[in-house]
Amino acid sequence: MILFDRYPEGKKYACTFSYDDGCKQDRRLVELFNKYGMKCTFNMFSAPMMSESGEGIKPHELPTLFAGHEIAAHAHNHPHLERMPLAAQYDQIIKDREILEPHYGKIIRGLAYPFGTYSEDTFTAMKTAGIVYGRTVASNPSTFAPPATDREFLTWAPTTHHNEAALPVKRFLYNVEKAPWRAGGLLYIWGHAYEFDNAASPVHWEEFEDMLRQLAAHKDNIWFATNIEVYDYIKATQSIRTSANGKMLYNPTDTDVWVSNGTEDIKIPAAQSVTVD
Ligand SMILES: [Zn+2]
Repeated sequence: MILFDRYPEGKKYACTFSYDDGCKQDRRLVELFNKYGMKCTFNMFSAPMMSESGEGIKPHELPTLFAGHEIAAHAHNHPHLERMPLAAQYDQIIKDREILEPHYGKIIRGLAYPFGTYSEDTFTAMKTAGIVYGRTVASNPSTFAPPATDREFLTWAPTTHHNEAALPVKRFLYNVEKAPWRAGGLLYIWGHAYEFDNAASPVHWEEFEDMLRQLAAHKDNIWFATNIEVYDYIKATQSIRTSANGKMLYNPTDTDVWVSNGTEDIKIPAAQSVTVD
């Protein structure tokens, strides 16, 4: 029996990060992720990036400094979107795409809600603006189940903020090390890089790097991906077409998919079909 319970390269677990606001500390944070082979989604609101003043991230840094990572929208002025009319919400989101994409060189498809808040209208604004997922600030440390439906992607709750990550990371790594049958787990950590410099924060650069080191030790079984890579992979998995006898599998997407049959992992390359026994 074929099971959709694998990530790329047959890995059973996945891990993603999401950091907000394009603060100057992002420059140090991205180096840390690169050092450990990890991927992050950086959520930028474009209004302050347009001015020459300030130490925050500038648009020209997007394609080089963040190569291999994802840039996502965070709404132009960082407003409470749910307090705005629908058209203004759309304007806030599309402006980020219009301003950032020519520098980034890629299509922006993700959003982190400023303050983590949204309304039903926000979903309409996002859909019109070509945004496929929205990250909230709600923690969901009780399960490592990734989003599956469109609605779940629009209300994507991370596992935890990095300040509370110690216990969830410990539980996640316990699964990775001791419970290989619990396939499909996704660890999702979010925060702001400036918090690592805040004396009052419980987690500073050293503690965070130590956590990355622990996760990196299991890179053979953890897929490190950006938010949009996780989205595209799950959508591709859901798009696999199967013959009536279950032996022929066709992948109509542009993303390679891995499945398992109980004894081995099987790769179904993008736009190809595979026959299994
Ligand atoms: Zn923010």
